[in-house]
Amino acid sequence: MRLRNIPRAEGTVQAHKTVIKRPEDQRGCWRQVFGNKNPLYIEIGMGKGQFILNMAAKYPDINFVGIERYTSVLLRAVEKFDTEEFRELKNVRFVCMDARNVEDVFAPVEVDRIYLNFSDPWPKARHARRRLTSTEFLARYERILVESGHVEFKTDNTELFNFSLEQVKEAGWALESFTYDLHHNEEMNRDNIMTEYEEKFSKKGNPINKLIAVRK
Ligand code: SAM
Repeated sequence: MRLRNIPRAEGTVQAHKTVIKRPEDQRGCWRQVFGNKNPLYIEIGMGKGQFILNMAAKYPDINFVGIERYTSVLLRAVEKFDTEEFRELKNVRFVCMDARNVEDVFAPVEVDRIYLNFSDPWPKARHARRRLTSTEFLARYERILVESGHVEFKTDNTELFNFSLEQVKEAGWALESFTYDLHHNEEMNRDNIMTEYEEKFSKKGNPINKLIAVRK
């Protein structure tokens, strides 16, 4: 994700009604944020928000929280929310934070599902722990997910994907399904919502990998 310094980003993001200002205060209370008892799905590293906004529009009975580290990127998501297509949505919120601290924001068994889409690859071996599908991150997810909760991960980066398959096994999670060519896998591609990166890379001809892992 190319980052530009956008001076208005911080102010606009902080003032927006969908952005949770002190997310730690909502730990254990996300149902109150949404005012219902619907399941809670989160996307980590959501970028400009195309996936989560379309998911929220398609599944009004699910609550969605999108997590993004940079305000300059989150700004694009809140601007997209403000368009006619999404501005009436009641079931989506955004949080600006580093996902390393996800346990400060969500309590045990508070999250039903986690989406990771086109996560940063961190190609150097010494940075492997920063990958959002590393065993370190899976341990964090394990502590916030419900018992049968799962992680869905898509990427065009096959090295990162193979690493992730191994990490899932090493963490003791169950691999529910996986494919190296999502768009030609009828079952796994059913109801697929494309992310910005997915559109960009599949247009270039890159096959998309997807795995679904279930918490141990
Ligand atoms: N998910 C989007 C998509 O598929 O189009 C964006 C993919 S982009 C390559 C990865 C995004 O994840 C970036 O916006 C980056 O800032 C965010 N990100 C990476 N590591 C993160 C972390 N530890 N916590 C929160 N966001 C993170």
